[in-house]
Amino acid sequence: MSYILKVENVVKSYNGNPALRGVDLHVREGSCFGLLGPNGAGKSTMMKIMTGILTPDQGEIELFGKSIRKESAAISRQVGYVPQEITLYEKLSAWQNLTFFGKMYGVRGEKLKERMKRVLGQVGLLERAGDAVGSYSGGMKRRINIAASLLHEPKLVILDEPTVGIDPQSRNHIFEMIRGLQRDGVTVIYSTHYMEEVEALCDEVAIIDHGAIVSQGGLRELLELHAIKAVYIETEGMVAAPSINGASHVRQEGAGWIVECERPMEMLGQLSRQYASSGRAVRALELMKPSLDSVFLKLTGTKLRD
Ligand code: ADP
Repeated sequence: MSYILKVENVVKSYNGNPALRGVDLHVREGSCFGLLGPNGAGKSTMMKIMTGILTPDQGEIELFGKSIRKESAAISRQVGYVPQEITLYEKLSAWQNLTFFGKMYGVRGEKLKERMKRVLGQVGLLERAGDAVGSYSGGMKRRINIAASLLHEPKLVILDEPTVGIDPQSRNHIFEMIRGLQRDGVTVIYSTHYMEEVEALCDEVAIIDHGAIVSQGGLRELLELHAIKAVYIETEGMVAAPSINGASHVRQEGAGWIVECERPMEMLGQLSRQYASSGRAVRALELMKPSLDSVFLKLTGTKLRD
């Protein structure tokens, strides 16, 4: 298997406080790799280290088969990194901002114009390109920031929580842009604390918590291995946790109960028969979709949004 990025045993502390505690990551070429974890887990620190902005206290990073310590300049020409902070000139138009960034990346002349049109189209802002960035919404600014990172046609794009605090329309544009990059064979590393985003976009995932990787692998594989299997039931007048044969755990969720069990299909049949004969009205009885939320809960003992 060909890996575009290998991170081996990376350790990083800030003033003696550990932010990363021996992180290993392997990112396959062409994948959309989600780095999923709660706020403060170490995602930004890891991304700054993999782009060479921060130096780790310990560990090795190999990008495109080369050590970033030894060949950082050559490597950075193939990487587009979008930090969380917006770095644009508010008084200049999007077009002028991109001209500036393009030159910084060494793209000039007709090639730069062609690339600017392409990336503005990718983020859905071609028609607003002449307007001052100061008049844009937060989501539009984020999209221009992303467009700037694509001007030099990077093979790897690293996005640090690109959807935090933005409108749903901008979020959809960013998702479409990422899907387009994937079709072009670009590898994407995407950090987020929203598990639904990883489920919607990524084929590979690493879950990070308190500076350590809890689990990583293919999305389907992780769900298969670790997602909690369960059935949801909501019935009339059920106030206390029902005792159910074969359930490993029963917990309240909204107006109903989540029944965790090894064989959810069998549980569905059992509950259906049990409640049909009890005469109590059943409002909902369904299989729970395997989710990364439950993977996180199972592996860390806490909810992702705690
Ligand atoms: P995430 O991106 O997952 O929210 P970060 O990498 O930003 O996590 O932070 C990981 C930990 O390191 C947190 O405890 C955070 O407070 C701390 N941290 C991050 N940047 C700095 C910094 N520049 N100085 C001191 N502590 C920092």
